[in-house]
Amino acid sequence: MDYLATNLKFDSNGLIPVITQDYKTNEVLMLAYMNKEAYEKTIETKKVHYWSRSRSKLWLKGETSGHYQYVKSICVDCDNDTLLIKVEQVDAACHTGHYTCFYRDVNADGSVKENAEEVKPVGDKSAILQEVYNVIADRRINPKEGSYTNYLFDKGIDKILKKVGEECAEVIIASKNKAASEIRYEIADLIYHLFVLMVERDVKPEDIYDELKGRR
Ligand code: AMP
Ligand code: ZN
Ligand code: ZN
Ligand code: ZN
Repeated sequence: MDYLATNLKFDSNGLIPVITQDYKTNEVLMLAYMNKEAYEKTIETKKVHYWSRSRSKLWLKGETSGHYQYVKSICVDCDNDTLLIKVEQVDAACHTGHYTCFYRDVNADGSVKENAEEVKPVGDKSAILQEVYNVIADRRINPKEGSYTNYLFDKGIDKILKKVGEECAEVIIASKNKAASEIRYEIADLIYHLFVLMVERDVKPEDIYDELKGRR
Protein backbone atom coordinates (compact mmCIF):
# COMPACT_ATOMS: atom_id res chain seq x y z
CA MET A 1 0.00 0.00 0.00
CA ASP A 2 2.76 2.45 0.91
CA TYR A 3 4.61 1.49 -2.23
CA LEU A 4 1.67 2.39 -4.45
CA ALA A 5 0.63 5.44 -2.49
CA THR A 6 4.05 6.97 -3.03
CA ASN A 7 4.54 5.81 -6.61
CA LEU A 8 1.13 6.49 -8.08
CA LYS A 9 1.25 9.45 -10.46
CA PHE A 10 -1.44 11.85 -9.45
CA ASP A 11 -1.95 14.64 -12.00
CA SER A 12 -1.43 18.35 -11.34
CA ASN A 13 -4.81 18.44 -9.57
CA GLY A 14 -3.76 15.55 -7.35
CA LEU A 15 -6.05 13.11 -9.19
CA ILE A 16 -5.64 9.74 -10.87
CA PRO A 17 -8.24 8.26 -13.25
CA VAL A 18 -9.87 5.03 -12.19
CA ILE A 19 -11.62 2.56 -14.47
CA THR A 20 -14.08 0.38 -12.60
CA GLN A 21 -15.04 -3.05 -13.89
CA ASP A 22 -17.46 -5.76 -12.86
CA TYR A 23 -15.20 -8.44 -11.38
CA LYS A 24 -17.17 -11.31 -12.87
CA THR A 25 -17.88 -10.11 -16.41
CA ASN A 26 -15.17 -7.45 -16.84
CA GLU A 27 -17.87 -5.08 -18.00
CA VAL A 28 -16.62 -1.49 -17.70
CA LEU A 29 -18.87 0.27 -15.23
CA MET A 30 -17.56 3.80 -14.89
CA LEU A 31 -14.60 6.12 -14.99
CA ALA A 32 -13.95 8.50 -12.14
CA TYR A 33 -11.04 10.02 -10.23
CA MET A 34 -9.32 9.42 -6.95
CA ASN A 35 -7.07 11.65 -4.93
CA LYS A 36 -4.64 10.15 -2.45
CA GLU A 37 -7.18 10.17 0.37
CA ALA A 38 -9.82 8.41 -1.75
CA TYR A 39 -7.25 5.81 -2.72
CA GLU A 40 -6.24 5.19 0.88
CA LYS A 41 -9.86 5.04 2.06
CA THR A 42 -10.58 2.52 -0.68
CA ILE A 43 -7.74 0.26 0.46
CA GLU A 44 -8.68 0.69 4.09
CA THR A 45 -12.44 0.04 3.77
CA LYS A 46 -12.51 -2.21 0.68
CA LYS A 47 -15.26 0.06 -0.65
CA VAL A 48 -14.45 2.31 -3.57
CA HIS A 49 -14.06 5.99 -2.76
CA TYR A 50 -13.50 8.65 -5.41
CA TRP A 51 -12.89 12.35 -5.52
CA SER A 52 -16.00 14.03 -6.87
CA ARG A 53 -14.83 16.75 -9.23
CA SER A 54 -18.31 18.25 -9.53
CA ARG A 55 -18.87 18.41 -5.79
CA SER A 56 -15.20 18.87 -4.81
CA LYS A 57 -15.40 16.33 -2.05
CA LEU A 58 -14.40 12.84 -1.06
CA TRP A 59 -17.06 10.54 -2.43
CA LEU A 60 -17.84 7.08 -1.13
CA LYS A 61 -19.58 5.52 -4.12
CA GLY A 62 -22.98 4.44 -2.85
CA GLU A 63 -23.08 6.80 0.11
CA THR A 64 -26.55 8.05 -0.78
CA SER A 65 -27.80 5.39 -3.21
CA GLY A 66 -26.57 2.31 -1.35
CA HIS A 67 -24.91 1.29 -4.64
CA TYR A 68 -21.57 0.48 -3.07
CA GLN A 69 -18.65 -0.99 -4.97
CA TYR A 70 -16.84 -3.72 -3.03
CA VAL A 71 -13.21 -4.03 -4.09
CA LYS A 72 -12.16 -7.39 -5.50
CA SER A 73 -8.81 -6.33 -6.97
CA ILE A 74 -6.82 -3.24 -7.83
CA CYS A 75 -4.51 -3.02 -10.80
CA VAL A 76 -2.15 -0.19 -11.73
CA ASP A 77 -1.09 0.46 -15.33
CA CYS A 78 2.42 0.46 -16.84
CA ASP A 79 3.27 4.06 -16.02
CA ASN A 80 1.40 4.32 -12.72
CA ASP A 81 -1.06 6.94 -13.92
CA THR A 82 -4.28 4.93 -14.13
CA LEU A 83 -6.00 2.44 -11.86
CA LEU A 84 -8.26 -0.42 -12.81
CA ILE A 85 -10.49 -1.67 -10.03
CA LYS A 86 -12.60 -4.79 -10.21
CA VAL A 87 -15.63 -4.61 -7.98
CA GLU A 88 -18.73 -6.33 -6.87
CA GLN A 89 -21.28 -3.70 -7.79
CA VAL A 90 -24.44 -3.33 -5.74
CA ASP A 91 -27.33 -2.81 -8.16
CA ALA A 92 -26.03 -0.18 -10.57
CA ALA A 93 -22.91 1.91 -11.02
CA CYS A 94 -24.57 4.78 -12.82
CA HIS A 95 -26.69 7.33 -11.00
CA THR A 96 -29.21 7.03 -13.86
CA GLY A 97 -29.95 3.51 -12.65
CA HIS A 98 -28.10 1.83 -15.51
CA TYR A 99 -25.72 -0.93 -14.52
CA THR A 100 -22.87 0.75 -16.40
CA CYS A 101 -22.36 4.43 -17.20
CA PHE A 102 -21.55 3.35 -20.78
CA TYR A 103 -25.08 2.57 -21.84
CA ARG A 104 -25.14 4.78 -24.95
CA ASP A 105 -23.53 4.21 -28.34
CA VAL A 106 -22.28 7.00 -30.56
CA ASN A 107 -23.32 5.95 -34.08
CA ALA A 108 -21.34 6.51 -37.26
CA ASP A 109 -23.52 9.52 -38.10
CA GLY A 110 -22.79 11.02 -34.70
CA SER A 111 -26.20 10.32 -33.24
CA VAL A 112 -26.39 8.80 -29.79
CA LYS A 113 -28.56 5.85 -28.92
CA GLU A 114 -29.01 3.60 -25.90
CA ASN A 115 -27.18 0.32 -26.52
CA ALA A 116 -27.82 -3.28 -25.63
CA GLU A 117 -26.61 -2.70 -22.09
CA GLU A 118 -30.09 -1.29 -21.76
CA VAL A 119 -31.11 -4.81 -20.84
CA LYS A 120 -29.26 -4.45 -17.57
CA PRO A 121 -30.79 -1.44 -15.86
CA VAL A 122 -32.44 -2.01 -12.54
CA GLY A 123 -35.77 -2.78 -14.14
CA ASP A 124 -36.92 -5.06 -11.38
CA LYS A 125 -38.58 -2.76 -8.91
CA SER A 126 -38.17 -5.25 -6.08
CA ALA A 127 -34.43 -4.54 -6.20
CA ILE A 128 -35.14 -1.71 -3.77
CA LEU A 129 -35.70 -4.35 -1.08
CA GLN A 130 -32.14 -5.62 -1.41
CA GLU A 131 -30.93 -2.03 -1.59
CA VAL A 132 -32.62 -1.08 1.68
CA TYR A 133 -31.30 -4.24 3.32
CA ASN A 134 -27.77 -3.47 2.08
CA VAL A 135 -27.87 0.04 3.49
CA ILE A 136 -29.08 -1.24 6.88
CA ALA A 137 -26.38 -3.96 6.92
CA ASP A 138 -23.79 -1.34 6.06
CA ARG A 139 -24.90 1.00 8.85
CA ARG A 140 -24.26 -1.86 11.25
CA ILE A 141 -20.62 -2.08 10.14
CA ASN A 142 -20.10 1.63 9.47
CA PRO A 143 -22.28 3.56 11.91
CA LYS A 144 -23.39 6.94 10.67
CA GLU A 145 -23.90 9.99 12.84
CA GLY A 146 -27.58 10.75 13.42
CA SER A 147 -28.76 7.54 11.74
CA TYR A 148 -32.08 6.20 13.04
CA THR A 149 -30.95 2.70 12.02
CA ASN A 150 -27.88 3.03 14.24
CA TYR A 151 -30.07 4.34 17.04
CA LEU A 152 -32.07 1.09 16.82
CA PHE A 153 -28.93 -1.09 16.74
CA ASP A 154 -27.53 0.80 19.74
CA LYS A 155 -30.73 0.32 21.74
CA GLY A 156 -30.63 -3.39 20.98
CA ILE A 157 -32.91 -6.27 20.18
CA ASP A 158 -35.70 -5.42 22.63
CA LYS A 159 -36.14 -1.97 21.13
CA ILE A 160 -36.14 -3.42 17.62
CA LEU A 161 -38.76 -6.02 18.58
CA LYS A 162 -40.89 -3.35 20.22
CA LYS A 163 -40.76 -1.31 16.99
CA VAL A 164 -41.71 -4.36 14.90
CA GLY A 165 -44.70 -4.90 17.21
CA GLU A 166 -45.75 -1.25 16.94
CA GLU A 167 -45.42 -1.20 13.18
CA CYS A 168 -47.56 -4.36 12.94
CA ALA A 169 -50.25 -2.62 14.97
CA GLU A 170 -50.02 0.43 12.72
CA VAL A 171 -50.50 -1.74 9.62
CA ILE A 172 -53.61 -3.17 11.23
CA ILE A 173 -55.01 0.24 12.16
CA ALA A 174 -54.28 1.70 8.70
CA SER A 175 -55.93 -1.31 7.07
CA LYS A 176 -59.04 -0.93 9.24
CA ASN A 177 -59.19 2.73 8.13
CA LYS A 178 -59.02 1.53 4.52
CA ALA A 179 -56.83 4.48 3.45
CA ALA A 180 -54.63 3.02 0.73
CA SER A 181 -51.86 5.60 1.11
CA GLU A 182 -51.65 4.96 4.87
CA ILE A 183 -51.58 1.19 4.44
CA ARG A 184 -48.76 1.51 1.94
CA TYR A 185 -46.80 3.80 4.26
CA GLU A 186 -47.22 1.53 7.27
CA ILE A 187 -46.29 -1.60 5.35
CA ALA A 188 -43.10 0.11 4.17
CA ASP A 189 -42.36 1.01 7.80
CA LEU A 190 -42.93 -2.57 8.88
CA ILE A 191 -40.67 -3.94 6.14
CA TYR A 192 -37.90 -1.53 7.10
CA HIS A 193 -38.10 -2.55 10.77
CA LEU A 194 -38.21 -6.24 9.83
CA PHE A 195 -35.02 -5.68 7.83
CA VAL A 196 -33.36 -4.07 10.85
CA LEU A 197 -34.39 -7.14 12.83
CA MET A 198 -33.03 -9.43 10.10
CA VAL A 199 -29.66 -7.67 10.08
CA GLU A 200 -29.55 -7.80 13.89
CA ARG A 201 -30.27 -11.54 13.84
CA ASP A 202 -28.17 -12.19 10.73
CA VAL A 203 -31.03 -13.38 8.52
CA LYS A 204 -30.42 -12.59 4.85
CA PRO A 205 -33.12 -11.72 2.27
CA GLU A 206 -32.01 -14.87 0.38
CA ASP A 207 -32.93 -16.96 3.42
CA ILE A 208 -36.47 -15.63 3.25
CA TYR A 209 -36.65 -16.12 -0.54
CA ASP A 210 -35.48 -19.73 -0.09
CA GLU A 211 -38.00 -20.30 2.66
CA LEU A 212 -40.86 -18.95 0.54
CA LYS A 213 -39.70 -20.88 -2.49
CA GLY A 214 -39.54 -24.07 -0.45
CA ARG A 215 -43.21 -23.69 0.36
CA ARG A 216 -44.35 -23.57 -3.25
P1 AMP B 1 -23.85 7.50 -4.88
O1 AMP B 1 -22.39 7.58 -4.66
O2 AMP B 1 -24.24 6.36 -5.78
O3 AMP B 1 -24.60 7.48 -3.59
O4 AMP B 1 -24.29 8.81 -5.65
C1 AMP B 1 -24.05 10.09 -5.11
C2 AMP B 1 -24.00 11.11 -6.23
O5 AMP B 1 -22.83 10.88 -6.98
C3 AMP B 1 -25.14 11.03 -7.23
O6 AMP B 1 -26.20 11.85 -6.87
C4 AMP B 1 -24.50 11.51 -8.50
O7 AMP B 1 -24.50 12.91 -8.57
C5 AMP B 1 -23.08 11.07 -8.36
N1 AMP B 1 -22.83 9.79 -9.05
C6 AMP B 1 -23.15 8.55 -8.60
N2 AMP B 1 -22.75 7.59 -9.46
C7 AMP B 1 -22.14 8.24 -10.47
C8 AMP B 1 -21.50 7.82 -11.65
N3 AMP B 1 -21.40 6.53 -11.97
N4 AMP B 1 -20.95 8.75 -12.46
C9 AMP B 1 -21.05 10.05 -12.12
N5 AMP B 1 -21.64 10.53 -11.02
C10 AMP B 1 -22.18 9.64 -10.19
ZN1 ZN C 1 1.73 0.09 -21.25
ZN1 ZN D 1 -0.81 5.03 -18.04
ZN1 ZN E 1 -23.24 7.26 -14.99
